[in-house]
Amino acid sequence: MRNCLICHGDVSSLFGWAAFLGLQKHNPVCEECESAFQKIAGELCRICGREWAMVALDNRHGDLCSDCFRWENDLSATGLLQWNRSVYHYNDHMKEVLARYKFRGDATFVKSFKKAFRETFEAVRNKENPILVPIPLSADRKYDRGFNQSLLLAELLPGKPEELLSRFNSEKQSKKARKERMERENTFYVPDPEPVKGKSILLIDDIYTTGTTVRMAAKVLKDAGAKDISSYTLVRS
Ligand SMILES: [Zn+2]
Ligand SMILES: [Zn+2]
Repeated sequence: MRNCLICHGDVSSLFGWAAFLGLQKHNPVCEECESAFQKIAGELCRICGREWAMVALDNRHGDLCSDCFRWENDLSATGLLQWNRSVYHYNDHMKEVLARYKFRGDATFVKSFKKAFRETFEAVRNKENPILVPIPLSADRKYDRGFNQSLLLAELLPGKPEELLSRFNSEKQSKKARKERMERENTFYVPDPEPVKGKSILLIDDIYTTGTTVRMAAKVLKDAGAKDISSYTLVRS
């Protein structure tokens, strides 16, 4: 019997013959799970990759959503992130699935996104070959979870991810002003600036929410001499 990697439902009937003949290469995901995820499509906010159709008229500033507009008008963050692109919307199904798999500490689950994560990557990287840098977890978090989901995602892409960022253990994020957090609570650091200098970097993470995490990471990379920084995530909330 084979189980769907996401909901753990039985999918052996779908895969029986292929598995028997040794033809089954992909990890099985049932049709229900496959169709409940919703891909981001159409026109996007130029920076954060939010689907433009979902940005209310009041929140449009040229080709930017109001979040990105605010970031770009914040002197501590202007131009830090070139763009973000993501594969899926953070719909209810995705929320449930992500929460469950983090809770379960199930590393193999990430593999079920391989095809979609690669396809969108080929479309967004724009023929360039940036260095893939996963967003790290602090040592404490990694110990708790047992794996870094961002590294697992980066490993689905062609090329070899480079762990050029590290992260201090931090206290819970407080609700300080964004600017203050960007400056004082940035827990990222670049252990060795040499391989970063003059390079284009693509940060890999599971989810883009407010954009603070990738910008904090981008800040220390830029300070270390990186040329430009973009990000690619599985989900955009
Ligand atoms: Zn399923
Ligand atoms: Zn935006």
